[in-house]
Amino acid sequence: SNVPNIILNNGVRMPQLGFGVWQVPDEEAAATVGHALASGYRSIDTAAIYQNEKGTGKAVAESGLPREELFVTTKVWNDDQGRDAALRAFDASLERLGLDYVDLYLIHWPAPKQDRYVETWKALEAIHADGRARAIGVSNFKPTHLRRLMEETEVVPAVNQIELHPNFPQAEARAFHAEHGIATEAWSPLGQGKDLLDDPVIAEIARKHGRTPAQVVLRWHLQTGNVVIPKSVTPSRIEENIDVFSFVLDEDDMTGVSTLDNGTRLGPDPDEMG
Ligand code: NAD
Repeated sequence: SNVPNIILNNGVRMPQLGFGVWQVPDEEAAATVGHALASGYRSIDTAAIYQNEKGTGKAVAESGLPREELFVTTKVWNDDQGRDAALRAFDASLERLGLDYVDLYLIHWPAPKQDRYVETWKALEAIHADGRARAIGVSNFKPTHLRRLMEETEVVPAVNQIELHPNFPQAEARAFHAEHGIATEAWSPLGQGKDLLDDPVIAEIARKHGRTPAQVVLRWHLQTGNVVIPKSVTPSRIEENIDVFSFVLDEDDMTGVSTLDNGTRLGPDPDEMG
């Protein structure tokens, strides 16, 4: 496939565009992920809480693709924070996926009220040292949570997967990540397909390039340097969302998209979750 890789802080290559499977029912995951793999996606983003690791693993097995060409991410859920619980949760995820390693394992939320993410991270460090996760990272961590991890543990997270789209571009987090060699991965990159894709600024840029609003938003992410994991269960949209490597937004387009920052989250504030 023609998706470029980024190089994580431990040298592992990660496709800059992957396929997200939140809200894809397990019974549909094999077919949906199967279509994504057939369309050229090589990176899949699931999580224990999505309850579709089985279907995702089935698609991977049935694809016939060499394991080393795929990049599979899953995440430890808030209820399984703490060293022993996280180690058990990881084993259960691998089992459901039918894999003997994942490419990236993430702490799903910092859940600061539980105050266990440092212990959980130590479990991920052990999993990484065993080679059962080629890279480890976090999700929904604010700079304050990252700073604490870096002070109290050994391995700097390879990735922080955070809510990020033109209405919530996360400039401060991105700068912090860049300073510390942490890749920024954008969740809900299309703003969950809601108002963002109807925005007239995006529509105008899309018209100019003969592309769709979703493609323009994905180009903005790629050119900003984010890893993106758009989700769709519609075959034509799955194909559309990876067909973003034969056009380029110019400076005016990028500036236009940057005017859409309105500071609005679609999801929870990480300090309040878990
Ligand atoms: P998204 O921004 O990828 O939007 C998906 C929705 O947009 C689809 O359900 C569909 O309604 C619409 N859409 C998709 N392609 C389209 C197209 N080409 N044209 C028009 N509409 C289109 O939202 P998401 O699923 O929330 O985020 C992507 C992935 O990020 C998830 O599947 C999941 O893997 C991950 N995620 C992670 C967290 C986290 O806490 N770490 C939270 C949310 C999502």
